[in-house]
Amino acid sequence: MKVYQGDSIENVIRLLNGYENPRLIAGGTDFILSFKDNGIPELLIDISNIEELRRIVEKEDYIEIGAGVTFTQIVESELFEGKLYGFKKACRSVGSPQIRNRGTIGGNIVNCSAAADSIPPLICLDSTIVLKSSRGTRELKLEQYLQNYSEQKISNDELLTSIRFKKPIGTLNFAKLGLRKALAISRISIATLIELEEERTIKSLKVSSGSIGRYPMREIEVENYLKGKRLTQNTLDEAIKGLQESMDKRLEGRSTLAYKRTAVERVLTESLMEGMSALGEVVL
Ligand SMILES: Cc1cc2nc3c(=O)[nH]c(=O)nc-3n(C[C@H](O)[C@H](O)[C@H](O)COP(=O)(O)OP(=O)(O)OC[C@H]3O[C@@H](n4cnc5c(N)ncnc54)[C@H](O)[C@@H]3O)c2cc1C
Repeated sequence: MKVYQGDSIENVIRLLNGYENPRLIAGGTDFILSFKDNGIPELLIDISNIEELRRIVEKEDYIEIGAGVTFTQIVESELFEGKLYGFKKACRSVGSPQIRNRGTIGGNIVNCSAAADSIPPLICLDSTIVLKSSRGTRELKLEQYLQNYSEQKISNDELLTSIRFKKPIGTLNFAKLGLRKALAISRISIATLIELEEERTIKSLKVSSGSIGRYPMREIEVENYLKGKRLTQNTLDEAIKGLQESMDKRLEGRSTLAYKRTAVERVLTESLMEGMSALGEVVL
């Protein structure tokens, strides 16, 4: 196996274009495991030391996260306090300190697991992913990328360089169910982005889930039902019922459906309640 140490985005794009079947490695936390099934690749390009990929840039109205930013960098950044705390919470829930030190946001997105913890909050934020290759730059909404994965999937000569989103008006929250406290892959995760009206009704709401479908996705029925309402025990119960009905269709025939149907109640409640209490609303 040949290994190149990438030192700039341009240099990596050139290498990706110049070889038959090059593979990229960032933190390696997913990729190394794939060696067992897929064998060792002939050519590996290590992108873990490219400074430009490891930056978090704050502009007046948006934030751009380099694809090589690690979960630890997110957890330690003050940018992800307050309204963006849900993103920090999701990144803090990943694996263990060792995994968070190596694992990157870019790798989490490209690996595209239904259980990827950074994705539901990034969907709520309506994030855009930026892909570069010798053919130019491609920008895609993360949500659309996941929905049309087979047509839009990142090709062999493309490098994911960053993820960008507008600073939200609402407050982002995240809740996850794992089988234990650390090193727990999500059984269910839910991110919510909530904005309230003056009279405390929900003005806008985004809800996105992980591990209850083929890929992380928006939960449109829950959003549409709760928008314009106050969060009470009744409205929460109805929202949970709506989500369970969508899960019945999506997870039909899966052995985990009965368990996830029950467990989702608590996860959705936690994500919504944390959001409301962060907004100063005492609920239920
Ligand atoms: C023990 C353990 C526990 C874990 N726990 C969790 C968890 O709780 N939650 C969770 O979400 N994940 C978890 N993971 C999964 C993993 O850590 C994440 O998916 C991680 O974000 C992958 O990032 P990486 O930098 O290590 O990617 P790598 O393993 O380096 O790469 C993954 C894939 O992405 C490609 N790639 C990487 N960067 C780019 C780029 N910039 N452009 C194009 N392609 C790229 C690689 O070619 C490869 O195909 C766990 C993994 C392990 C081993």
